[in-house]
Amino acid sequence: MNGVVLPGDRTVRHVRLEVPEPGSGQVLLAMKASSICGSDIRAIYREHLGHGPEAYRGVVAGHEPCGQVVAVGPDCRRLAVGDRVAVYHIAGCGVCDECRGGYLIGCTSPHRAAYGWQRDGGHADFLLAEERTCLPLPDRLSYLDGALVSCGFGTAYEALLRLAVSGRDQLLVTGLGPVGLAAAMLGRALGAGPIIGTDVSAERLALARRLGLVDHAVPAGDDAAAMIADLTGGAGCAATMDCSGSAAARSLALRSTRTWGRCAFVGEGGRLTLDVSQDLIHRQITLHGSWVTSLRHMSELLANLVRWNLRPEVTVTDRFALADAGAAYRLADAGTAGKVAIVFD
Ligand SMILES: [Zn+2]
Ligand SMILES: [Zn+2]
Repeated sequence: MNGVVLPGDRTVRHVRLEVPEPGSGQVLLAMKASSICGSDIRAIYREHLGHGPEAYRGVVAGHEPCGQVVAVGPDCRRLAVGDRVAVYHIAGCGVCDECRGGYLIGCTSPHRAAYGWQRDGGHADFLLAEERTCLPLPDRLSYLDGALVSCGFGTAYEALLRLAVSGRDQLLVTGLGPVGLAAAMLGRALGAGPIIGTDVSAERLALARRLGLVDHAVPAGDDAAAMIADLTGGAGCAATMDCSGSAAARSLALRSTRTWGRCAFVGEGGRLTLDVSQDLIHRQITLHGSWVTSLRHMSELLANLVRWNLRPEVTVTDRFALADAGAAYRLADAGTAGKVAIVFD
């Protein structure tokens, strides 16, 4: 089969591999969609930055896979050939507290392996997956929808749950990359409004507006805080979420959170300096860090997308064949597109 590895230095290497055979508790998936994530760019494609859970081991890349079961190993309990599945992108040890809570992302066992980081991922014709990391994909969702849920939409949904977002809340999303677009889409489904989004990229602001995901697209910059205050009667938003990881955007999200409001940080990396009394304590703000999601919340999200009649794939602006993975990564690296995905067939 064909596969893609990422040697670093902004290169993509195509390799030929044996099709793996599923062992105990494993299934073989024919890949149908495998999207590219900001963390693939940040920690693998540009250079191999990661340690621990983000260490890249030279495996087939792609941690947002979605496909169809074509072979089932011994001792599988739920899946059968022909099933369409989304994949939680980390296989944890299965027996620690974080794994038992469904947050395989938080597993610290040496047995933990993320698809596309420490074990082969979705940028190949087939993927060997643990059955316990696979979730049935509802018929009304596409494979591309499923790929997007496996990381970005799941991450956005988890942070919205952490913030307990509802129709009582205005919602500010700083950073309108794929996770920010997901947060805006799901935040509206949960009842929040108005939805205000900010970004430094005019293209990303235009995309969020064109997709109807935000009510107000505010250019990030010196005037952003005043514009957000204007849009919210001077008080700011009850719920805010940073999906960019930039210090300026995190600070904007916090300063635009109304008194007694809640803020979540989802965008990775970097540092932040706070005036703790003025920015946090005196305004009674609850600040959350939220990392990926749980198996249960991912499953709940798949069901809710059907109920809400939402299609994550509308945020995909560019699709590439596996053979064109180099072009796909170059585009994703530029940071101006919506979601970029590799699709099969
Ligand atoms: Zn991801
Ligand atoms: Zn574990």
